[in-house]
Amino acid sequence: MPRYEFRCRACGDTFEVNRPMAEAGRPATCPQGHADTVKLLSAVAVTGRGGAGGGPSAPAGGGCCGGACGC
Ligand SMILES: [Zn+2]
Repeated sequence: MPRYEFRCRACGDTFEVNRPMAEAGRPATCPQGHADTVKLLSAVAVTGRGGAGGGPSAPAGGGCCGGACGC
């Protein structure tokens, strides 16, 4: 069963939830009981960069820095 990581915007805690993919988009409640949580990108999101799902915007250019650091 895939594992999803959530972050609570009320207390800032992060927690993981195991749930079927069919329920991936459902809201999770933080262990402290807060309902104001957001789903984070997790190891499940390995099918491509960016991907769908409406997550927070990723840095443009790809890589860690777009070549500025020479890595
Ligand atoms: Zn919380």
